[in-house]
Amino acid sequence: MARKFFVGGNWKCNGTTEELKKIVNVLNEGQVPSSDVVEVVVSPPFVYLPLVKSLLRPDFHVSAQNCWVKKGGAFTGEVSAEMLVNLGIPWVIIGHSERRLILNESNEFVGDKVAYALAQGLKVIACVGETLEQREAGSTMDVVAAQTKAIAERVSNWSDVVLAYEPVWAIGTGKVATPAQAQEVHFELRKWLHANTTPEVAETTRIIYGGSVSGANCKELAAKPDVDGFLVGGASLKPEFIDIIKSAE
Ligand code: PGA
Repeated sequence: MARKFFVGGNWKCNGTTEELKKIVNVLNEGQVPSSDVVEVVVSPPFVYLPLVKSLLRPDFHVSAQNCWVKKGGAFTGEVSAEMLVNLGIPWVIIGHSERRLILNESNEFVGDKVAYALAQGLKVIACVGETLEQREAGSTMDVVAAQTKAIAERVSNWSDVVLAYEPVWAIGTGKVATPAQAQEVHFELRKWLHANTTPEVAETTRIIYGGSVSGANCKELAAKPDVDGFLVGGASLKPEFIDIIKSAE
């Protein structure tokens, strides 16, 4: 079954109103394949979500970068899944490595957040990925399997989940995984899903790659059979994001 190419732009903690308006303008004017061919989602910081949503072309969608693990209430500083639904935000990124590593989000906490967000009706970009030490120790697959297992134990319907493989050593470093390295982990993740969820989930779940994706390296990565798209950080704030979207074709 065909998996529609997916390109996410993770704007992280960047931008001012004026800067983000400029980026949205570039996106709105970009010539890209139709939404039958590629699904495009951009993820501004929480405070800019309504603005970006209101200005963005209708064939692109917005995503939050995080949300709270359960129903809102007495949790100072958090934003609940219910609030995102209330604002008409369709997507949320959960388990980005910056949150796992800097804010100590555990596999279980990430799994709980994915399950809660899905139950509220959000679609989820769930991130997994190993550190350089873990890769050098040969434990890449153990790490990403454990991260994925914590999600699979809590989620039975994967139709609204995109799995993002983002090796930590490749994020923001300019040191992109080779197409062969990305394909190897994506293939193993799909095999893991086959063995631990259902063959249908394995076949239909999009597994996207993130970590120093650029206009220059996206085509080769996109050509790999198990690379179903990208989660793009730095380059998603630049006009080359349009070229990355075009790699869907
Ligand atoms: P990068 O970030 O493209 O700047 O490496 C990717 C990400 O963190 O999602």
